[in-house]
Amino acid sequence: MPVYLLTAMNPPKGIIKQLHMIFARFFWSNTAGTRSKHWVAWEDLCSPKEEGGLGFRSLHDLSNALFAKLWWNFRVSTDSLWSAFMWNKYCKKVHPIMEKSLGGSHSWRKMVMIREEVEHNIWWQTINGSSSFWYDNWTKLGDLYYIEGDNAKEEEIEVKEFIHNRSWDKHKLLNHISEEITECIIDNIKPELIEGRNDKAWWMLENNGEFSVKSAWEGLRNKKEKRRDFEFIWDPKMPFKLCFFLWRVWKRRVAIDDNLQRMNIHFVSKCWCCDESKHETMTHLFLTASIANRLWKQFAICAGINIEGMHLQQLITKWWIRDANIKLMAIQKAVPAMIMWALWRRRNTIKHGGKCSYNQMKEQIRIQIHLVIKLQYPWIQTIPTEWQDIVKYLNEYKPKLYAMSVRWVPPPRNKIKVNTDGACRGNPGQSAYGFCIRDEYGNLLYAQGEDIGLRTNTEAEIIAILEALRYCKRVGLEGFLAGIRLS
Ligand SMILES: [Zn+2]
Repeated sequence: MPVYLLTAMNPPKGIIKQLHMIFARFFWSNTAGTRSKHWVAWEDLCSPKEEGGLGFRSLHDLSNALFAKLWWNFRVSTDSLWSAFMWNKYCKKVHPIMEKSLGGSHSWRKMVMIREEVEHNIWWQTINGSSSFWYDNWTKLGDLYYIEGDNAKEEEIEVKEFIHNRSWDKHKLLNHISEEITECIIDNIKPELIEGRNDKAWWMLENNGEFSVKSAWEGLRNKKEKRRDFEFIWDPKMPFKLCFFLWRVWKRRVAIDDNLQRMNIHFVSKCWCCDESKHETMTHLFLTASIANRLWKQFAICAGINIEGMHLQQLITKWWIRDANIKLMAIQKAVPAMIMWALWRRRNTIKHGGKCSYNQMKEQIRIQIHLVIKLQYPWIQTIPTEWQDIVKYLNEYKPKLYAMSVRWVPPPRNKIKVNTDGACRGNPGQSAYGFCIRDEYGNLLYAQGEDIGLRTNTEAEIIAILEALRYCKRVGLEGFLAGIRLS
């Protein structure tokens, strides 16, 4: 779907609902044209995986984030034609955050709808004090107009009117706002004014202060609590179908009779896995049936896990967190999903008239474990065949270490050597460079280093070289060798 259409259009709620329905139907159906049960509402799938969803994005949230971008551009890029047009059309007499009319174009109405949340994340850095005292969020606390409540006045005054000789006019502030906020301003905001440049807007949801749709989406959507169990379920090294299946079991959204009955779908229940039980339940199928129990034990014993007296969720959690060599842990936490997937496949095969033996399940799991190991540790040449040997092998696995000596070599006679380096915290991020100059005996002749603000790592490395060359030129050093560390 061409999502960019949403940047300019705001489809009615009903249309988004219909689109979501089409997505959901596509997602849950096995074959084209057939209807199948939607086990989880589309809205609930539209959360990140660690919050219990499937990582889809709701079009509502996406549309909000895209309109947040429009609002940001409207407020910040005041020299653009579009922004000037909107400003003249809607906010000629009144500040954008006070514009109340619900009329106007479709886009404008939607922009106004999300305005409050967006405004809250824009901070106006005082430079020449051009921000609106009441309506712009220049204190980081929010617009004073809303914070101050009864004290607030509907008037257009600029922040600079409260600054005299590089300090706050406390008396004037107190005349307008409460003592508490006045103190907060005096303590936290430097009142220097620099002429020539208007106050600068920073997007507070990004470290570099620049707006991004991603951060707006993250900041404006309804968040749920992050949960460890979901992080374990969505193991990135596992095939999607297995993770998805485990997620459905975890939420009890699998077509097993006791789940269906909980959803008020009544019928005569029948167990397909054995003759031991009359009713089909999750616990029976996946844990207590003797074939299931045998399969769990087969794998659990070698890994030192005792399965007695545990609920299904407890048992799975135990596999996830059981302490072992880190190599083994990565594989071990994938095993429960494989076991349950095998049991589920067997149950479905039998239900549809086929056959599946215990050994077939075991073999299927063995192949899956091998695939995961190959994906996780592609450098391991020969993986043992049996699970018990794999456990032993991984638990004792030690990587081969290669040693390589790295030495600094002095320059030839009558030459000097310049070593440079640049580094950033993040990329881009807060950066610095450094260089040093040594002679043929290794004596340090000169060293220099400096903060260079927000840069990418390539920029930092190159600035280091540039500054070193500049220095050499300045002091007339010639005939040097440059050693550059580019990592
Ligand atoms: Zn059974």
